[in-house]
Amino acid sequence: MSKDFVVRYHKGYDCFFSDPGDTKSMKCRVCGVECVVEINVNGAHDYFYCPNSEKQWHDRALRLLMESEKFESRTLRDLVYDEYKDFLLAWGVLAPK
Ligand SMILES: [Zn+2]
Repeated sequence: MSKDFVVRYHKGYDCFFSDPGDTKSMKCRVCGVECVVEINVNGAHDYFYCPNSEKQWHDRALRLLMESEKFESRTLRDLVYDEYKDFLLAWGVLAPK
C-alpha cells in the first residue's frame, strides 16, 4: 500500500454529474454502492461520487471494468469482466450467489 496513492475519479464509472435536482441518487458502476452527492457545485450541477473511490481495491476494480469494456470481442470482454467480478467477490464487495 503506497501512501502516494492518488484518488482519481472516472466520470461515468465512479463519479457523475447531473443538472441540479435532476438526479436524486446514483450508484457507483464499479462497486454498486450509493454515491455521495454534492448539491449545486459551482451553481451549475450536482456531483455524485463513490465513497469507496479512495480505496485501492476500488481503483483496481475500476481498471478491470474499464479494461473489459474496451474489447470488441465479447469473449475477451466476458473474460475480463469475470475477473472483475471475481475480484470484487474476493474483497467481499459482491455477495456470492
Ligand atoms: Zn464504487
